[in-house]
Amino acid sequence: MHDSPAAGQLRRGFLWLRFERGLEAEYWRDHFEQGRLQLRTGFLLAVVLAAAFIAMHHRILPPPDLPTLVLRYGIVFPLLTAGFAATLVAGTGRLLRALVAVAAPTVVVAVTALVLLGERHAGQSVFPVLVITTMFVYYLLGQSFYGALRTGAIGFVAFLAGAWLIGLAQEAFAYQVLLLAITNLVGGTVAYTLEAARRTAWLEARLLAEMADRDGLTGIHNRRCLDAHLHAAWQQGIREQRPMALLMIDIDCFKPYNDRYGHQAGDEVLKQVAGLLAQGARRPLDLVARYGGEEFAVVLYDTTRAHAAALAERIVAEVRNLGITNAGSSCAPVVTVSVGVALVQPAPGRRPEGFVQLADAALYAAKDAGRDRVHVMQDEYAQMRTGFFEAPRRESA
Ligand code: GH3
Ligand code: MG
Ligand code: MG
Repeated sequence: MHDSPAAGQLRRGFLWLRFERGLEAEYWRDHFEQGRLQLRTGFLLAVVLAAAFIAMHHRILPPPDLPTLVLRYGIVFPLLTAGFAATLVAGTGRLLRALVAVAAPTVVVAVTALVLLGERHAGQSVFPVLVITTMFVYYLLGQSFYGALRTGAIGFVAFLAGAWLIGLAQEAFAYQVLLLAITNLVGGTVAYTLEAARRTAWLEARLLAEMADRDGLTGIHNRRCLDAHLHAAWQQGIREQRPMALLMIDIDCFKPYNDRYGHQAGDEVLKQVAGLLAQGARRPLDLVARYGGEEFAVVLYDTTRAHAAALAERIVAEVRNLGITNAGSSCAPVVTVSVGVALVQPAPGRRPEGFVQLADAALYAAKDAGRDRVHVMQDEYAQMRTGFFEAPRRESA
């Protein structure tokens, strides 16, 4: 098919959970928009769990010392609540990411300190809290695999340092380090798998959307896409007062070509012509599409009559220069095209349908005049009634 970045990325795979540059940025934009709800749930759950743990610890542990109070109510609670609040504000995708990147490791280090303080101050192990916190980091904070891994690693190092500082008993230390390492390993593995699956699903959805807009044979845009684009560009043309051109391109005497050389050879011609057209319109609001059968359309936004006509002439010449023999053609020994060009100024109260109709009329005029040529229509638009197609009368002169 055409050069789809999503298809290429799916083919190549992404072992390191990284797409090529443009795709990577798009992925994160979508991810953070769609992930906001997940993040909100995650933070809310974290606030509720933190409150539950603290309430429980108030019951089973002796009254907290000052550092414990500061860590609980000065760091963990405010950060979790701020995270939750940030997910409620619209348009803070970047801010949210930055906040998570800072808040997650800070909370993990604070919880590590709380657990170790509990151990020393109260003589009671609340180590499972650290296991749950680590799992939280991997599954519920919407961080990338690498982000979560970094947070997990910071937590692990903080635990090693803290345990050494408070002089945790050797047996308890060995057991807890092992448990924490396993939690990180399992968490990391699941996080990797989850992100890989999420990335695959994203690429597939993107590919599907791309394919819905493409013509299966030639790989250029299809009729569906053309219609949508014409309407959007038309509205923009009205707003910005920019003229538009539509080129309708039809292969001459194509039925005889198919009859003589077969439909597969005909398909090859369609692909060649499509490939040639695709090089002609490169600006963001320009579009090349297969209109249907052996007909193509080129939309040019904010263009001039001279430019549109020159492009049409170039297309006619380039197709002829392909030199594809068409012995059954009545107008040339090779495959040729006729091009109808409509040039209009989009205006309120007029519809793009009339624009297409004018291009169609211009195409008929080019066919009528002998094919293998261009016909431009512009002033006729004023007299035309959209929806009432009149085939141009054959003129003798
Ligand atoms: P004109 O110069 O007036 O355009 O004559 P024409 O023979 O090109 O026009 P006509 O409308 O009579 O025939 C169009 C032909 O295009 C008929 C059909 O066989 C061929 N065609 C349409 N779609 C395809 C396609 O997808 N593949 C192939 N191979 N041929 C196609
Ligand atoms: Mg046709
Ligand atoms: Mg034709």
